[in-house]
Amino acid sequence: MASDRFEKVVSLAKRRGFVYPSSEIYGGLSGFWDFGPLGTELKNNIKSAWWETVVWSREDVVGLDSAIIYNPKVWEASGHTENFADPLVECKGCHQRFREDTLEKKQCPNCGGKEFTKPKMFNLMFKTYVGPVEDEEGLAYLRPETAQGIFINFQNIVNTNRLKMPFGIAQIGKAFRNEITTGNFIFRSREFEQAELEWFCHPKEADKWFKFWQKERISWYEALGMKRKSLRFREHEVTERAHYAVTAFDIEYNFPWGWGELEGIANRSDFDLKVHNLSYKDEETGEEFVPYVVEPSVGIERSAFAFLLDSYDEEGEGSKKRVVLKLHPRLAPYKVAVFPLVANKPNLVKKARGIYDSLKGEFPVAWDDRGNIGKRYFAQDEIGTPWCVTVDYDTLEDGTVTVRDRDTTKQDRIVIDDLLPYFSSKI
Ligand code: ATP
Repeated sequence: MASDRFEKVVSLAKRRGFVYPSSEIYGGLSGFWDFGPLGTELKNNIKSAWWETVVWSREDVVGLDSAIIYNPKVWEASGHTENFADPLVECKGCHQRFREDTLEKKQCPNCGGKEFTKPKMFNLMFKTYVGPVEDEEGLAYLRPETAQGIFINFQNIVNTNRLKMPFGIAQIGKAFRNEITTGNFIFRSREFEQAELEWFCHPKEADKWFKFWQKERISWYEALGMKRKSLRFREHEVTERAHYAVTAFDIEYNFPWGWGELEGIANRSDFDLKVHNLSYKDEETGEEFVPYVVEPSVGIERSAFAFLLDSYDEEGEGSKKRVVLKLHPRLAPYKVAVFPLVANKPNLVKKARGIYDSLKGEFPVAWDDRGNIGKRYFAQDEIGTPWCVTVDYDTLEDGTVTVRDRDTTKQDRIVIDDLLPYFSSKI
């Protein structure tokens, strides 16, 4: 199944409304995607799971929501105007353009040609203009990473919060990169969201904190059910490191086409604060220094894709065959689905509706009264709903319902009043 897992997950994601090509009715736009009802829930769940772990559960991390467009001087200082570029080559046969370092065996993936133009460095930042005049003065960029928003607010945050080094500033938000080649579904797009933590520490402690965040971040994926064997660390070669990094490791996921970056963890040294002329004074010791920055940075869509791939499973044969997304309940778009056993018995429907109404304010709940129970189970398995609640004739007698578990398919009878605590304890 490994070989066709990619096609199966992409087709499921489109068919069930996780992801749509953006502007589809106008032929789409390469590298842009829209997230449907289920994809929106999945992305929100990943973001809140990240925020809860990285911000809420710690005393030493605070959040930020900065603008997307900054004064262009930020990108000059950060080195992005000069260095945030990939080598672009054009195939002399078919004139398609590629990122040189992604070409396998220096061969054109389109026509097989082996002759290319000399590589030109192509800056990945999207340009726009601020104000009514489109000239150099109004030139601005859509941010290609959220991190700079954090650095330029470093002093504001230190001044307005009582934070002592080491501490972190976290941000989740849109980033834009005019990638030369997009692809592998939502793995590489031109508009995406990043969750980034900038962890500021004394230079002497940077190595220690680098190791700490490596461990923390890999445990986060594991706690959300990702298989450990699907993940590995890979250290960057000196030549691949970003212009600001002194050490960089990727957390890689074993995608169907091979290992690929899921999250980058970099020791950005004192590069960023230095270029913005920022420093920190320790009020207790009086020492003034430029902090080092350790940065874990993950793409939300890329991790959503990895969670979908990792949780996809097929079980059984023939008419018993089912497709199931074994997503962690924390990530599942719907937590529970509620059904009346049959749709044409008003007393069953009314009872089921009452349960649906009482749960839907607590978490996302699906309602289904079409077809037979088996089909409804299969439809919920395919989108990863962990539990299905069925109201039947016994419910009217004894106030219990059937709760069917997605992963084991085991069914339990549970008293209606116990449903909310039962589900809440597992999400
Ligand atoms: P790559 O080597 O794949 O181009 P990168 O090393 O440039 O990625 P970083 O700058 O480290 O990526 O970005 C941090 C994270 O942001 C990545 O680990 C990835 O999850 C996400 N990300 C980066 N570029 C994209 C993209 N074009 N589409 C979707 N997610 C992305």
